[in-house]
Amino acid sequence: MEPIVGIDLGTTNSAVAHLTPDGPNIIPNALGGRLTPSVVGVDESGVVVVGAAARELQVVRPDRCAALFKRHMGTDKTYTLGGRTVTPEELSGLVLRSLKADAEAFFARPVTRAVITCPAYFNDRQRKATIAAGRIAGLTVERILNEPTAAAIAYGFHDSREDKKLLIFDLGGGTFDVSVVELFDGALEVRASAGETALGGEDFTRAIAARVLEGFGTSFERAEVTTPLLVARLIQQGEVAKCRLSREETAVVRVPDAAGEFTAAAKEVTVTRAQLDAWVSPTLTRIELPIRRALADAKLTRDEIDEVILVGGATRMPLVVRRVRELFGKDPHRRLNPDEVVALGAAVQAGLVGRAGAVEDLVVTDVAPFTLGVAVVKQFGGDVQEGYFDPVIDRNTTIPVSRVKQYSTVAPNQTAIRVRVYQGESRKVADNLLLGEFEVNGIPSGPPGQEVDVRFTYDLNGVLEVEATVVATKRKVTHVIARHAKGLSEEQVRRAVREMEKLKAHPREEAVNRFLLARAERVYKELAVEARRVLGALLDGFEAGLESRDPEAIGRHREALQHFLSLHDPDGENPTGNEE
Ligand code: ADP
Ligand code: MG
Repeated sequence: MEPIVGIDLGTTNSAVAHLTPDGPNIIPNALGGRLTPSVVGVDESGVVVVGAAARELQVVRPDRCAALFKRHMGTDKTYTLGGRTVTPEELSGLVLRSLKADAEAFFARPVTRAVITCPAYFNDRQRKATIAAGRIAGLTVERILNEPTAAAIAYGFHDSREDKKLLIFDLGGGTFDVSVVELFDGALEVRASAGETALGGEDFTRAIAARVLEGFGTSFERAEVTTPLLVARLIQQGEVAKCRLSREETAVVRVPDAAGEFTAAAKEVTVTRAQLDAWVSPTLTRIELPIRRALADAKLTRDEIDEVILVGGATRMPLVVRRVRELFGKDPHRRLNPDEVVALGAAVQAGLVGRAGAVEDLVVTDVAPFTLGVAVVKQFGGDVQEGYFDPVIDRNTTIPVSRVKQYSTVAPNQTAIRVRVYQGESRKVADNLLLGEFEVNGIPSGPPGQEVDVRFTYDLNGVLEVEATVVATKRKVTHVIARHAKGLSEEQVRRAVREMEKLKAHPREEAVNRFLLARAERVYKELAVEARRVLGALLDGFEAGLESRDPEAIGRHREALQHFLSLHDPDGENPTGNEE
């Protein structure tokens, strides 16, 4: 049978995995890497590059690259890439296409079916955008699985006979998500989720860059404006140093000049782990509020959490592990690589999808990611104030759910009311998102206080049905919201697929060469004149070899280039230094 793969489509990194008889396994990419950076670029020749090669290109040509597009899935934001306008769905589609090609090379057969994960808080529109991205890449998305649920599955909690309360602590590149997942009667249920959309490993990298700059008398904010190339370079240096500090006590950061180049006079700054811990400690306190919120929404205390699971590359930092241990008074689970668990869990789920009849084993339910309610007026003494939000379905209520609330007219002889439906967490509707509105008329005239029942029904697909009933006459008006939530239409997907076919990409066998070229271009600028001359000659040879299409010549020049880079850019092969 055709394999079904599990995919973690991440903000910073993505991964693909499959289920073997011995458990789930990561499928390596063309470079042998286990993670593929979620970065897309267009190189000088107008060809699309994805993953590590695009991340290299991003250091020297940030204008030709797009990253962090997962944040904008399901919105109208577009990116300009190599003179073309692309959507976040298309960019995600390119990442998925690359993972699909890796899986196909691995199995030596076509792969067209996948389980893809998304954050628990993704709304209907963002989930549809994820499905569209899959279809753009030529994948049938068998299931969208919540990331925290996937992590719990990777640790085998779906097989556990006991009921348990799990807390999934996911600190990625730019987001922090905490979810309470309950295992009950063999079903995994996301009870609550909360997070910080601007907290993650990137902040720790920036902290290093900022402190180094401070040492030279400039602020990060100022340097970003006056010397953006220096900052781009310093961030890359800071990233490598940060990951090294998870394994070692000290790391060295080289400081580029204003043009982002490393001259012979380039200064070196040594950073210790203790220093890094002190710098990021204040930022790290921001994990506490979302944890409190998720626990409160799940109506649990810290002590009632049975297991804590670490997810996300940034949890490789010893300080983060220590904090979690202090907060929960127990050792978190981290037997599996934190940046791989989500893909591994998705692979298990994919295996269950593939095994007919086994799907029911795993009932995954969901919660409403936002509070849903209506606009009301409030009376303060004789004063009538408009624009207040009155919640009908609270955030993190398990769905499907149906709730009814009663409202009444405020003016004498008022025969109609307008039901305005909002989602959000603010007291005032102006700060929330208007989902839809409709009119209910035929209310019998009379004194204020004529009653109208408003029922909200929210189903598993994120469809919200609002029904208003005039109590005196039983007259009903029904309004369905959220289906119109703008997923891509069939036609839009077809058009995107056609557009993608026009985007030239290198064949997969070329990936190693493309990555090597991009990496060498970056390293070139970091070298002193002498070494630069040597690298220049090696690059010329490699490019001539590629031109000749002679496999023997390509191989020979490639090896020479790789050898040089292994000496002059030891961390560049695998910048995170994370082992299997
Ligand atoms: P996302 O879920 O955002 O796609 P990941 O879970 O892959 O991302 O996490 C990426 C983040 O993890 C990056 O900020 C990266 O610097 C960080 N990271 C990866 N390895 C390490 C390490 N060894 N030490 C510290 N941070 C790391
Ligand atoms: Mg992630």
